[in-house]
Amino acid sequence: MEEIRSLKVINELGMHARAAGQIVELAAKYNANLFLKRDTREVDGSSILSILSLACPEGSEIEARIIGEDAKEFMDKLEGLFKSEFGETGRRQYRPKKKIIKGFPVSPGIIIGKAHHLNRSKTQVFHWRLVNRIEVDREVDRFRKAVDMSKEQIQKFKSNMPEQVKGYAFVLDTQPMILDDSLLYDSTIKRIRKEKINAEWALEKSVRNIHQLFKNVDDEYIGRRMDDVDAVTERVVRNLAGVQVDSLAGIKEEVIIVAHSLSPCDIVEINVEQVMGILTDVGGRTSHMAIMSEALEIPVIVGLERATDMILDGDILIVDGNTGDVIVNPEPETILSYEDEIKRYSNYKSAIDKVRHLPAETLDGYKIKIKANIEFLSEAKAAIESGAEGIGLYRTEYLYLIRKDFPDEQTLFDDYSQIARMVAPNPVTIRTLDVASDRMASDMEAIREDNPALGLRSIRYCLKERKVFKTQLRAILRASIFGNFRLMFPMISGLEELLEAKKILKSVMRSLDRDGIEYNREIPVGILIEIPSAVSIADILAKHADFFSIGTNDLIQYALAIDRDNEHVANLYEPFHPAVLKMIHQVVKAGKKQGIDVSLCGEIAGDPLSILLLLSLGLEEFSMNIGSIPLIKKMIRMLPLREVEEAFEGISHLYTSKKIECFVLKKAKSLLPDIFEEDVFRYRAPGTS
Ligand code: PEP
Ligand code: MG
Repeated sequence: MEEIRSLKVINELGMHARAAGQIVELAAKYNANLFLKRDTREVDGSSILSILSLACPEGSEIEARIIGEDAKEFMDKLEGLFKSEFGETGRRQYRPKKKIIKGFPVSPGIIIGKAHHLNRSKTQVFHWRLVNRIEVDREVDRFRKAVDMSKEQIQKFKSNMPEQVKGYAFVLDTQPMILDDSLLYDSTIKRIRKEKINAEWALEKSVRNIHQLFKNVDDEYIGRRMDDVDAVTERVVRNLAGVQVDSLAGIKEEVIIVAHSLSPCDIVEINVEQVMGILTDVGGRTSHMAIMSEALEIPVIVGLERATDMILDGDILIVDGNTGDVIVNPEPETILSYEDEIKRYSNYKSAIDKVRHLPAETLDGYKIKIKANIEFLSEAKAAIESGAEGIGLYRTEYLYLIRKDFPDEQTLFDDYSQIARMVAPNPVTIRTLDVASDRMASDMEAIREDNPALGLRSIRYCLKERKVFKTQLRAILRASIFGNFRLMFPMISGLEELLEAKKILKSVMRSLDRDGIEYNREIPVGILIEIPSAVSIADILAKHADFFSIGTNDLIQYALAIDRDNEHVANLYEPFHPAVLKMIHQVVKAGKKQGIDVSLCGEIAGDPLSILLLLSLGLEEFSMNIGSIPLIKKMIRMLPLREVEEAFEGISHLYTSKKIECFVLKKAKSLLPDIFEEDVFRYRAPGTS
């Protein structure tokens, strides 16, 4: 017996987990199979996950098909469930429960909006055989068109990318290449012709084959390329099925994205006109996805752990990107109070923007240098516009990811010389290649390590792959005459490494001399202090370096043994840990004693609370994310530095992060009541919330 009926989801919350659960319970009572279909996608009605994967909001039409005993009775009951709104008929009184979730704020701002889950469930693939030549030709044509359409979509994302993230466009470059790859493209066509099967099936087989080929390759980089293969395949399958690709770019109304995780591809696809904010289950505050999403200038909170479980599609959310709070289904009174907060925050933002071009000079006349961290040439302009007095950290590695081979000297020179010119006369601290496990370029595939964060990365890699290193150094030196460059080596763990790197630099200088090429012979050469061993011998290293920059993102990770990308330990990533503060202080003292500049370029430089403490430790130069510059400048202009130092005198007697944070917050409120009492940032010391 077969029964087919069209059913409408009329309950306000749509087909959420509880409603789907009722369907599954009902299905278990009958000796029949239930299939639910939305658009072209049909799923097994006895699986809660499959039903949820249909992502049916209020108003969706579903086709129910029941095959088996008592199909009619089963269908009547099922229809009854839909009509009774799954028992939520008292929906006028029904109010979803308010919940508060806490994550790690990455990009500030407060918004109120509707949740939109980014549905990554796979489109179901149907299999059929082709009967004649005409059908085969038609199928090949259908496949070609779907691939072309996919390429066009990718190209469209690239050209519609918001200005802020244009620099990240390269992450979409590999996808058309994968689509053109003969392992995927030619082999699918061959299969359609030879095996006489439909395009989806043939494509599925080709992809399975690719997976098989790479099955035994235990390499993170290749693993990530397989993700790219799956992502483009899903796009083609959806185009074949005529299903809207559930991408960020396809969103048509203003929403807050809720996702388990977001890839760099997702970030560059975001249309900030529609996406008001982003929430993810995974990720730490200094993960590279977090740093990248910050460029969007919309509130972003990561590491919420269970946001995708706790938030339903269409839930109303208050997202506070300043504190990391997400309020799910707030009461009307809470919404009203946050609307006031949003107004206050926007007034506050315009007030701080006014000071961004004024010098960062304290009330008692001390000049503090505020510079920007950037990753792309295109960010240099935004950095200067936001009031940066130079680039304190140019992370150069992303240029190495754009292409399959290593960039040649001319390509690097073009980029570096442009940046030098754009920022001159202000300085640019250019960091040599800092390849980490999550930043591998394709020619580095050969590196397979169990523990890449402690592996052959950064300066260690450069000292091994000298040709790559020398090419970059030549490009930097050649570009140095166009502006004010400082050269910085990352991940220095001991003196030998520094001396070795400097020796290579000298040899590159000699080769330029031989070629009669001009460069700045006096280019300052400094190091990033981000490994505890470098802190211990900072006094020795200071004798061989022209400047130090403290990289707290890695220093905290290595000092506390906390993976900076892992949300499960993100609460243990403690910038206020007394050991971290001692290390920073030790580096500052060693640098000052030797008379070299010491700056700090980790994410904490842009944190209003941390900056007070860092000033009290004697730091006078900071490099930070562009968005933090105006506020930090405003704060510095309101402070008497001497008073900050006095206020923090007792801090060395506090031995836990919690006590230190409470202490700093108290001092911050008394030093800058307008900023900290205003409650705009609503800092909560651990344990006080
Ligand atoms: C750091 O480690 O603090 C740093 C500035 O570099 P990155 O975040 O690129 O590792
Ligand atoms: Mg680092």
